[in-house]
Amino acid sequence: MPAKKAPAKRAARKSAEPQEGFETRAIHAGQAPDAATNAVVTPIHLTTTYAQDGLGGHKGFEYSRSGNPTRQALETCIASLEEGARGLAFASGLATLTTIGMLLEKGDHVVLEENAYGGTVRYFNQIAQRFGVEATYVDASDPANVEKAWRRNTKMLLAETPTNPNLKLLDLERLAKITGAHDALLVVDNTFATPYLQQPLKLGADVVWHSATKYLGGHSDVIAGVAVAKDPEVGDRLKFLQNAAGGVLGPFDSYLVLRGIKTLAVRMERHSESALEIASFLASHPKVTLVNYPWLEEHPQAKLAQRQMRLGGGMLSFEVKGGKAGAVRFLKGPKIWTLAESLGAVESLICHPVSMTHGSIPKEQRERSGVTDGLLRLSVGLEDVDDLKRDLERGLALV
Ligand SMILES: *Cc1c(COP(=O)(O)O)cnc(C)c1O
Repeated sequence: MPAKKAPAKRAARKSAEPQEGFETRAIHAGQAPDAATNAVVTPIHLTTTYAQDGLGGHKGFEYSRSGNPTRQALETCIASLEEGARGLAFASGLATLTTIGMLLEKGDHVVLEENAYGGTVRYFNQIAQRFGVEATYVDASDPANVEKAWRRNTKMLLAETPTNPNLKLLDLERLAKITGAHDALLVVDNTFATPYLQQPLKLGADVVWHSATKYLGGHSDVIAGVAVAKDPEVGDRLKFLQNAAGGVLGPFDSYLVLRGIKTLAVRMERHSESALEIASFLASHPKVTLVNYPWLEEHPQAKLAQRQMRLGGGMLSFEVKGGKAGAVRFLKGPKIWTLAESLGAVESLICHPVSMTHGSIPKEQRERSGVTDGLLRLSVGLEDVDDLKRDLERGLALV
């Protein structure tokens, strides 16, 4: 990977107007009324190609892999929300990650948080390695572990916070100091927090990415991914790779994610409020042995959570008595919570990581990172919180 260039000097602000608030940008950034019709909602541009005025295209659009107005609206909006130089939308979260991975070259080394999303680990172990990129996994909640793993050819640190399913936090400001000192990129998976709760680029990260399948889309109806680069030079390289490797997001899916983002702020407020109430309820329940939620005082990194995040988010995990047998009994109770993979949407989902998302990880390694047999993960949705609590009580009565 070429050395990171010094960021271009930012142009002086044209006006002294304060930046518009997050909620305003979520609804309007990149989404001015349509130039042709004044339609208030961004149209879904189902076209592959554009009539050219002469050689050189029309308003920058030539072919929809290279640029599509609906996708561009989403890309502008997410860049605004993460406060970076350039946003890009891809066919899935993992298509986003693989494109970020193409910033690397044969012979490069990367350091990853050991509890990163399983697909992220699989990409580095089974694909990037074949192209000569080596990876080391560490518990990055202690930055000393990252320093220890650092090599002469380390070019990227891949962080994710909070992690799945244990809601461990990484101190992004401290990690950014390490990557900054080594001229490497800090890449952060911000799927769990969303830019409403946490803005990694403002904490020093270089690239932030999401599975937009989760909270950004927010309604369990679209697979998508986005990346935002802090600095224009990295943004240009990602833009080149997006077009050259081709994993772009389609216009209809771009529309669905744009539509989801418009309500992101209010959704994250309610997800967080309900999750805190449920976490507190579980923490005081006699059948529950452990609750992981960043906004609970007993979370070991509660102070970091308050510094780095606006609220605790909609994800939590907890352990019931009786190990796996206890978890299996519990799962027979709830009627509203749906047993399913995925997260981050309006409906509440429950998952047993050991049998579902983390089944392929050896037991010893799993338990070391806290993924025990009795652990259950909740994605707290937007239903009535009293209904949700009563429904969990149905499961706890069976434990
Ligand atoms: C789901 C998920 C991904 C992968 O995204 P897809 O859209 O499924 O490709 C990456 N990171 C996290 C944290 C996720 O939850």
